[in-house]
Amino acid sequence: MKTIIEPFRIKMTEPIKLTSKSERIAALKKAHNNIFLVDAEDCCIDLLTDSGTGAMSTKQWAAMMLGDESYAGSRSWKKFESTIHNITNIKHVFPTHQGRAAESILATTRLKPGDMVPNNSHFDTTRANIEFVGAGAVDLLTDAGLDPALEVPFKGNMDLRKLENFIEETGVEKIPFCMITVTNNTGGGQPVAMENIRAVKEILKKYGIPLVIDACRFAENAYFIHENEAGYENKSLLEIAREMFAYADAATMSCKKDGLANIGGFFICNNDAWAEDFKNLLILKEGFPTYGGLAGRDLEVISVGLMEALEYDYQVYRHATVTYMGEKLEAMGIPFVKPVGGHAVFLDAKAFLPDIPALQYPGVGLVNALYIEGGIRGVELGSVMFGKRDENGVEIPANLDLVRLAFPRRVYTQSHFDYMIEVIEEVWKNREEISGYKITYQPKFLRHFTCHFEQVN
Ligand SMILES: *Cc1c(COP(=O)(O)O)cnc(C)c1O
Repeated sequence: MKTIIEPFRIKMTEPIKLTSKSERIAALKKAHNNIFLVDAEDCCIDLLTDSGTGAMSTKQWAAMMLGDESYAGSRSWKKFESTIHNITNIKHVFPTHQGRAAESILATTRLKPGDMVPNNSHFDTTRANIEFVGAGAVDLLTDAGLDPALEVPFKGNMDLRKLENFIEETGVEKIPFCMITVTNNTGGGQPVAMENIRAVKEILKKYGIPLVIDACRFAENAYFIHENEAGYENKSLLEIAREMFAYADAATMSCKKDGLANIGGFFICNNDAWAEDFKNLLILKEGFPTYGGLAGRDLEVISVGLMEALEYDYQVYRHATVTYMGEKLEAMGIPFVKPVGGHAVFLDAKAFLPDIPALQYPGVGLVNALYIEGGIRGVELGSVMFGKRDENGVEIPANLDLVRLAFPRRVYTQSHFDYMIEVIEEVWKNREEISGYKITYQPKFLRHFTCHFEQVN
């Protein structure tokens, strides 16, 4: 088989500032050793997130010029609505400025204190929006999905028995809806099988509970189904996506992922009463229902992007970049979460740096070493981000200390990937020189964004 090439060529370039090691050491020091506080310009390869960081196609840039900025009922809105109808066949469509705005309005209109919302794994904004209105967010992932070393497909699946038990114990009246996140971002970008979505829907139907899909990476999930689930190899990604949405009563979406756009989101639903409530709050918080917090040109860009994300050759290339890195890491014996996800590779910092105690944050040690060695910006998903405190205020480390390398869409080429692999290899070879960190300043909430670190020797 020949090399899978990027199915695009480059018409416009954006320079990367190449920095020296000493410049990076200085930049990190200035940022109090917290990678979030480093300027983007000082990161050669920025893998902080795949959200809103993708490159647009010529068709998307051209579509921007067609943006109809009329306040109500614009041409761009019509295109947006018909594109989403075409993919999902769901009746009511509401644009929002991001995924979390859709989540917030959904939670506010449908949940009351004491309600519970199950999901395979809630994304952090989804959980926060549910908890903000006094309801509870519960993760019901399969045990396989919780094991980072187990190499099986569809580790994003919901555990059907846990779901049924949860409904029986909680009571239908306390569960206004159930969610399923495709792919499962919090669980490593792992996909959900069509069989699982169908089975979840069957259980929910029995109890009369609506299913809401968190659809941020619906096209990547469709690709995994095409590749790994029997019966789907001859279907198009669009056909697969349509079947996924056929089981849904509603969906929330961040177009910053598989919308291939830099901003945007939407909410869709079939229920007229849900739509009426959503619409009223949308007008209050986001905008008139035919633009909902987006410019006409954004609606155009998203309409093109959603269809481009469903192009098979694009997904083949996208997945090849992630697996390419996974194969190289495997060959070097570097520990990472298996199989690789749809949008990211997760290095296992605890196994990478076994001598650094959990409360000296091996994930931060690894993130900072990758930055100093090659200007790569990854993100710690471990004890700094998810650590808790017991009743005496003693810090409890997270179960896993991971470093996520998330890949922006259509941005980096194979030589960038080769470079990243070389940097990781160099860090791996010199891993004994990496030290842990202690926190010298932290805010009350979401400390990972702004806390300060100091090396411990
Ligand atoms: C990004 C994301 C969201 C939130 O979307 P924003 O556009 O960032 O507000 C919700 N769910 C999942 C699974 C996501 O990845």
